[in-house]
Amino acid sequence: MESGKPVEIICSACGKDTLLIRKPKYDGFTKAGETLTCASCGHEYPGEDAVPFKGKKVVQVFSDADRSAKVEVFRENEAEHLCRHCANYVINPFMQWCSLHKKEVEATDTCPQFKPKPPPKEEEKKPETKPAL
Ligand SMILES: [Zn+2]
Repeated sequence: MESGKPVEIICSACGKDTLLIRKPKYDGFTKAGETLTCASCGHEYPGEDAVPFKGKKVVQVFSDADRSAKVEVFRENEAEHLCRHCANYVINPFMQWCSLHKKEVEATDTCPQFKPKPPPKEEEKKPETKPAL
């Protein structure tokens, strides 16, 4: 056992680059563990896991679940800027064309100069004129 040996820490209570003091804790005459305290401010850590050892890897704040959730949100925003929803998107039998950039595009392309397509106009409807007989 190396109890009592100081270890370098960055204290989470006082923020100082300091040392951890390990002291054996007794319950009567039986050793009941160690007290882990900051040499600078005396903050006591509940356990080894809570000690901010110097050089310890930074705990990842975001889990994988959080990260994929963010990606989903990003994809949704991107979908709003798809060329096929853009006012400059022209479709003809041979290609899909961007009238702003004068180039061929894909319906799934995205563009920073995205302009929302206006809602379909009434005049696009072609009423069939049947001769009334
Ligand atoms: Zn401290």
